[in-house]
Amino acid sequence: MDISLSQIKGIGPARLKAFQAAGINTVRELVMFLPREYRDLTHTVPLCELKAGDTAAVRVRVAGEVSERRARRLVITKVYVTDDTDTIPVIWYNQPWLKKQMPQGRELLLYGKAEHKQGYVSLISPTVESDAGMVPVYRSIPGIPAKALRQSVEAALKLCEGQWPDELPEALRRRHGLCERNFAMRNAHFPDSPEALEAARRRIAFEELLLYQIALRLFRSTGRKGVQIDFDDGALEAFWSRLPFAPTGAQRRVLGEVAADLRSEKAMARMVQGDVGSGKTAIAFAAIALAHAGGWQSALMAPTEVLARQHYEGAKQLLEPLGVRVGLLVGSLTPKQHRLAHEAIAAGEWDLAIGTHALITEGVAYRNLGLVVTDEQHRFGVRQRTLLSEKGDAPNVLVMSATPIPRTLSLILYGDLDISIVDELPPGRTPVQTRIVPETKREGLYGFLRREVAQGRQAYFVCPLVEESEAVEALPAEAVYEDLRTNRLPELRIELVHGRMKPADKDAALERFRTGEADILVSTTVIEVGVNVPNATVMVIENAERFGLAQLHQLRGRVGRGAHESWCFLMAEPNTRLKFLTSTTDGFKIAQKDMELRGPGELFGTRQSGTLTAGIGTLAGDTELLKLTHDEARALMAEPDSPDARAVIELARERFADRLRDVAIN
Ligand code: ADP
Ligand code: MG
Repeated sequence: MDISLSQIKGIGPARLKAFQAAGINTVRELVMFLPREYRDLTHTVPLCELKAGDTAAVRVRVAGEVSERRARRLVITKVYVTDDTDTIPVIWYNQPWLKKQMPQGRELLLYGKAEHKQGYVSLISPTVESDAGMVPVYRSIPGIPAKALRQSVEAALKLCEGQWPDELPEALRRRHGLCERNFAMRNAHFPDSPEALEAARRRIAFEELLLYQIALRLFRSTGRKGVQIDFDDGALEAFWSRLPFAPTGAQRRVLGEVAADLRSEKAMARMVQGDVGSGKTAIAFAAIALAHAGGWQSALMAPTEVLARQHYEGAKQLLEPLGVRVGLLVGSLTPKQHRLAHEAIAAGEWDLAIGTHALITEGVAYRNLGLVVTDEQHRFGVRQRTLLSEKGDAPNVLVMSATPIPRTLSLILYGDLDISIVDELPPGRTPVQTRIVPETKREGLYGFLRREVAQGRQAYFVCPLVEESEAVEALPAEAVYEDLRTNRLPELRIELVHGRMKPADKDAALERFRTGEADILVSTTVIEVGVNVPNATVMVIENAERFGLAQLHQLRGRVGRGAHESWCFLMAEPNTRLKFLTSTTDGFKIAQKDMELRGPGELFGTRQSGTLTAGIGTLAGDTELLKLTHDEARALMAEPDSPDARAVIELARERFADRLRDVAIN
């Protein structure tokens, strides 16, 4: 099935290129490109039963003239539709061509989300469908229209059928009630029914998770020696005594685990997980102090320049008095500064290099790298963290993550890492008060903000990212910024940061907020990453329903870092999912709930799931499947010479051979 895609009708040179750019080169890879979701058009809802918040299919006819109106950069197309049970408005943004397709009386099958608009339940930007059934929705590939993509997949499936034998041993398949491969692939793309889709997903996810875990085990069984670091116990106490506060019990315990790893002759490969604000930085700095006491260099990599600078300032205060010479290497340095930094690192004049991914560019060579720390690791690809550790000779690796992950899942995703959990917050924090604010209460929120700012406090506004295709409805950061500045809070100092700004402008805006020159920071989720502004006491999250619970919890952690009472306002209509967030501040409980509700893929976004194509993405919070595959992998590896185990191990090697290295730490 490693047939080139050019064999498929309709794929000419241009489309071939587009597919290749998306990493799809063969028929097999196209078949493995699974839908992101499905539009369930198997049943339609009568308009009179449609409620705000529902996503549904409706069968209607056009009941009036189409109207068109312009507002800022939006073209708003509106038409009334009816199915005799009721009549409702339908609204599209920036799709002016639809107007021509809506003569009065035309029958339409629409699929989309119902929302409250000016007192009415309306359908917002629904798709106009042609067939009933379950329709696959793929991640969009630039240069390939959705319909062409569907047709190519269909053709690829035809080519595969009968030619791609089921590779899982039959006994194993039977034992776990897994459907056959061809059935699974066909129904994963074009399900005959929701039940067939479920069976297909289960089969594909099972296979993927099983092979991945086998691959991890194969790697691990090779063992790994690494840099062994010796230091006096006094080094640890010297560090603690420098801290302006007493360490929490959790910090002490985790650092104990880290210290034991450093001393062992095996290379450390440990992830420290802890809620935002749990004090992971102190643990990282302590580990660096120990490495230094043992005579080794360290590197600390952060995902953004702002965060790197923040760590740099912290390290100068805490570590320099202990004799650790600290340097900063980030993209915005001048060429000359870059050269000097590279020289200082190579000569061992820096004991600690702090930076962004500039730390792993080709030119950087370390003198004796003994410890590598990556902060907020969920922001990095596994590949990047591997590259950094390759800069040394099997250095110790410590990764810090503020994404709490349910235990079952981390066993699988980070099977190659030992995990420590910082499950205690430093004393004296007042928990952030979380409230859901429906649209009708918005005015009150602005009054509250004015009072907070009058008392010298600061506030964040976070807006969801908007997909290109999604000519929107949700308030993008720019619109919120304009609205605040010109209408709502013109007397306040407001800054804007978003992903499409130049890094220098973005950093400058963040800096003005950090130093208190701005009262309000409006942003997309870029601030999710580690900004520390203790004076900020209010977090407003627009369109909160668009975020996962774990992500909302992370965002909320940006406030409540100082002595003042802090607030998080979720701008949305109340629902049980959001209410859960108002009821607890326990990150692990929230992660567990998020996984149950949205599937584990959402916890990581697509960034992380690159290694696991189908399994993680399609598992619907299925902890049972995680456990089943975990046990099966263990059982197979216990008897690696049985025919079934051999077949599966071979498959795992094939499937993950290239990726194995990326997955592996050190
Ligand atoms: P995160 O785990 O999110 O990286 P940080 O390391 O940034 O958290 O710590 C958050 C804040 O808590 C910092 O201002 C830090 O100085 C403070 N902090 C860390 N540990 C303690 C402690 N044991 N007692 C009091 N404050 C602490
Ligand atoms: Mg941190």
